[in-house]
Amino acid sequence: MELYKNVHQISSLYGERYLFQYLFVGDRTILVDSGIAATPRNTIFPYMEQIGINPTELGMLVTTHPDTDHQGGNSAIHETAPGALTGCGEADRQMIQDPWRLYQDRYNHLQKDHGIGFGDEPHRDAGDRCRVDIGFSGGERIVVSDTRELEVLHVPGHSSGHLALFDPNQRAAFVSDAVHGHGCPKRDGSIELPVTYFQVDLYLSTLAQLEDLNIEEMHTGHWPSMYGDEVRDFITDSRRTVEILDRRILQALSKARSGLTLDQLINEAREEFPDWPASTRDAAIFPVNGHVERMEARGQIKPIRGIHPVRWESL
Ligand SMILES: [Zn+2]
Repeated sequence: MELYKNVHQISSLYGERYLFQYLFVGDRTILVDSGIAATPRNTIFPYMEQIGINPTELGMLVTTHPDTDHQGGNSAIHETAPGALTGCGEADRQMIQDPWRLYQDRYNHLQKDHGIGFGDEPHRDAGDRCRVDIGFSGGERIVVSDTRELEVLHVPGHSSGHLALFDPNQRAAFVSDAVHGHGCPKRDGSIELPVTYFQVDLYLSTLAQLEDLNIEEMHTGHWPSMYGDEVRDFITDSRRTVEILDRRILQALSKARSGLTLDQLINEAREEFPDWPASTRDAAIFPVNGHVERMEARGQIKPIRGIHPVRWESL
């Protein structure tokens, strides 16, 4: 659907959750995210044709961050529109170019020490390897037409190089999965996935950065679009979630005599957020690990040596 003039949200379902891409139409057409491997053919190309744009004429594809459901369609886009420039956050480039790196460095990077991982090899939804032409680091401007320029924002936390685009004319931010509220919703509004920020301090600075922008409308990868106070409430909910998890994890560690594993700390987190479903509980390892790393860096906790999986104890 057209959100406002020449700016479109392309919508499909991935499992129970919405999956959104965005299309900016002007002198060149810019696509933000490509969905899973099948999304271009099933959803994006038909949408473009319906609004009178030939998919082969796509000018640029921006991938906001490394995840199956945001980069999986990159190779299909490249096959159809080989002239389209591809861009992403420089810090995420390797994982976005290569699904094997995505699995190794993101989904399974905690498996060896903590026993929780997500598949030995890339799921077919992750698509094929696809080169990225431009590495953004935030602060760049992308010209869509004489009347529209998009500002590239670096909004890390969910990934190191996560990008958002900001349209200053409309005060509209396209943030994909940079902000998480208290979890990723299904289309019926119940929670499908826990929050999955990886780096706590970077995530908090992203929340502050977005708050300072005075965003009037915010469009995301999975959450319904938000307007006015809804944007501010969502950012407040996101920060509150960080504070609740931080407090719970630290309290649990201070009470545990023989320390706790990340797996045990996931259970603690789920006590605070009982609507996080059992089927996706393991995804909470990412924020839990983020909090634990930050506590260790602050000298609040330490790992107990020589135990597998690793256990932490408070100091
Ligand atoms: Zn996502």
